[in-house]
Amino acid sequence: MSSIKENKLSVYNSLVGKKEAFVPVIKDHVGMYVCGPTVYSNVHLGNVRTFISFDMIYRYLQHLGYKVRYVRNITDAGHLEDDSDDGEDKISKKARLEKLEPMQIVQYYTVDFHNVLRLFNNLPPDIEPTATGHIVEQIQMARKILDKGLAYEVDGSIYFDVEKYNQDNNYGELSGRNIDELQANTRTLEGQNDKKNPQDFALWKKASTSHLQHWESPWGKGFPGWHLECSVMSTKYLGEQFDIHGGGMDLKFPHHECEIAQNKAANGKDPVKYWLHANMLTLNGKRMSKSTGNTLNPDELFSGDTPLLDKGFHPTAVRFFMMQAHYRSVLDFSNDALLASEKGYQRLMNGMKLLSSLEAKKESTFDVNSWMNKCYSAMDDDFNTPILISLLFDAMKIVNQIADNKASLTKQDLDLLVSNLNAFVFDVLGLEDINVDNSSNKLSGVVNMLIQMRNDARNDKNWALSDDIRDNLKDLGIQLKDGKEGTKFSVE
Ligand SMILES: [Zn+2]
Repeated sequence: MSSIKENKLSVYNSLVGKKEAFVPVIKDHVGMYVCGPTVYSNVHLGNVRTFISFDMIYRYLQHLGYKVRYVRNITDAGHLEDDSDDGEDKISKKARLEKLEPMQIVQYYTVDFHNVLRLFNNLPPDIEPTATGHIVEQIQMARKILDKGLAYEVDGSIYFDVEKYNQDNNYGELSGRNIDELQANTRTLEGQNDKKNPQDFALWKKASTSHLQHWESPWGKGFPGWHLECSVMSTKYLGEQFDIHGGGMDLKFPHHECEIAQNKAANGKDPVKYWLHANMLTLNGKRMSKSTGNTLNPDELFSGDTPLLDKGFHPTAVRFFMMQAHYRSVLDFSNDALLASEKGYQRLMNGMKLLSSLEAKKESTFDVNSWMNKCYSAMDDDFNTPILISLLFDAMKIVNQIADNKASLTKQDLDLLVSNLNAFVFDVLGLEDINVDNSSNKLSGVVNMLIQMRNDARNDKNWALSDDIRDNLKDLGIQLKDGKEGTKFSVE
């Protein structure tokens, strides 16, 4: 294992727009905060990618020997439909439509979120705080910002005064947005007339009589603004200055920009040393969108119950597919790319199975040390998992050659190779050794054969046989679906 004393890790810091040497605030310790989900619907595959990316980062930091405190919040109040303080609260709306308590919605989708991330073998964060559990602290921070003169009260709501803050600070330092442009481009929406300027954002909102989640405050009944919870919970659990703040690219503005402004206004310090942002997912080269049908959720991905995929994919194979792209690159999901990646994953696992049977020899024909250093260099270069994976395949070639007696390693080198492969494949990339190939591919082979037999029966007008095939498969939990592009199946 490489020593963290070497300090070779560099990370791409969105705040400065380049890679920087990673030097934590407190030696050997890392504080990492990642914006979690708003739990009002099933977790989106794009968000899943963000959480898997930060899981890999968490795993690698731990592997390097850092003591990491990883905090990821659950937004269970205060997130309005429009990011700029407008529209209905997402959780309250869902609760109203479903005639449920808001906390029932929160519980249901929090459980779903945890289940999905567990399937992808994500480690849980060290602390998972909720917005509703930190109302007192949010009121305190809003008060602190008011006392500093950087917020104002209008009719029971508290707004952050962006223009005033910008006199001594740079609002837009993270997103690169300029306050004059923002002023020119922001529409004044109905109901926002109580703000001094349209770019001001709510720290606390007065609750209307129909708003389901509300709390007492010095300004009357209300609820916290969405941005405030992350400032409060990151400060509470990681301190006024901490190392890594992560999230999806789409959160850079306004959410993260507002977090910086709130923290600086309240504590007078830059809160975060390194801002890391994970890129988005596309599907067949296009933006995912529910309205156009170009969308895929985790369940459809696992079951294959969608016209976009030939079959379902195991979560660990999907995780491997995600790791084949750098976390800052756009990743395109498609049936062909997933199939190709699944083959690669299986090849890697087949090689890993060979490891225990390899025998040491007197000489080494492969430089394991130099290979290992390259693996660390790849990961130390802003967590370059695609390069790491190509190096893992280099090692698989050697493993196969050793098994065929075409290459050899000494005991020491073989031990080093085995321990590093296990560490990178299972601990760092978080893959699981599951035989995705044999079970799912053989099953789809057999079912497709039966579909062909059923088609032949139908062509012969042998309806009894064709119905028999369909019904027997159904009894086994395999549903056939006839469509324009032929018959597809899904496994329950
Ligand atoms: Zn956040």
